[in-house]
Amino acid sequence: MLLGHCAHARFVWNLACEQHQHWRPGRSSAPGYVEQSRQLTEARKAFGWLAAGSQTVQQQALRDFAQATANFFAGTHRRPTWRKAGRHEGFRIVGKRGKQWDVRRVSRKTGEMWVPKVGWVRFRWSRQVPDGVKSFRVARDRAGRWHVAFAVVPQPVPAPGTGAVVGVDRGVATSAALSSGERLSVPGLRETEARRLLRLQRRLSRASRGSKRRADVKAAIARIRARETDRRKDWVEKTSTELARRFDVIRVEDLRIRHMVRSAHGTMQVPGTNVRAKAGLNRSIYAAGWGRLVTRLEQKAPGRVEKINPAYTSQTCNACGHCDAKNRQSQAVFVCRACGHAAHADVNAARNIAAGRAVTAREGPPPGEPVNREPQPVLLST
Ligand SMILES: [Zn+2]
Repeated sequence: MLLGHCAHARFVWNLACEQHQHWRPGRSSAPGYVEQSRQLTEARKAFGWLAAGSQTVQQQALRDFAQATANFFAGTHRRPTWRKAGRHEGFRIVGKRGKQWDVRRVSRKTGEMWVPKVGWVRFRWSRQVPDGVKSFRVARDRAGRWHVAFAVVPQPVPAPGTGAVVGVDRGVATSAALSSGERLSVPGLRETEARRLLRLQRRLSRASRGSKRRADVKAAIARIRARETDRRKDWVEKTSTELARRFDVIRVEDLRIRHMVRSAHGTMQVPGTNVRAKAGLNRSIYAAGWGRLVTRLEQKAPGRVEKINPAYTSQTCNACGHCDAKNRQSQAVFVCRACGHAAHADVNAARNIAAGRAVTAREGPPPGEPVNREPQPVLLST
């Protein structure tokens, strides 16, 4: 039944997507929420399988699409895109608790939520459901695990008020280097897990399409990947909270600029074989975690995150200001050619970032203003 809800929500969303993609300059505008909602009522009359689903779920998908479209035109989000079966399995319920939906605690470890057309569904009570919850989202990840997330707008993490400033540099060997000298790494897959993943991927390429074997291998790969994602997300949450608690101002690189700088100069001066390819892979993995870390920082410490022009932060000596590509002797070692100052390359860069000035106007909302923080998923018991 839950998968049915997901399928209906996806179907309605994709229809809305199609209507909007059909639009070309000169054509009359694509239907908005009110018109789409009317069309949904008609479609439910015509198709029994659609009517068998929950109207609340289907209508909410349209409302979500309208919001996504509004966000796109406001310039804050990308254009809403197609949702795929197996990849985007989820639906949202919005409404009054106790009326359209409900949640209750059954025991210390279990809770139950009431889902339209399904009834009470058990889940593992992994954290407190806050008061004033108006919506929740049920989703199934690629590893086949169900999650429920109750949405609230939490208070930002309070600043320590000490005036402490930190610079954070994204590195390849170190995921995040702090100007305080700490080097933090995203926990990835263990050696044995990575080897198993590689073996499974080889097996997948040999398995014939549509076979049961292929589906099994795919599921096993999804489970390992989910583990990796979970660890990265966990690291991002813990790190962002810690930084927001410890420092008043957090300075990070503005990656949109960094990207251009990097591609123009080509700063990977790493000797050895195959290192470039590996570094590229690592970078892409860390990139995902990095973007999320900055987003979460801006949400937890609104107005306290500053984006810095990252040009030459990795080549400039933090002690004397001498800028030379040769200062960076290897991926990890920084030795200044002018004053002899030696440091870990990422930490030296982080100190330059800490000393930098904000270059962009695109910052978080002013301090104290609550922002929409993403609700944390809760694992459902199955
Ligand atoms: Zn120097």
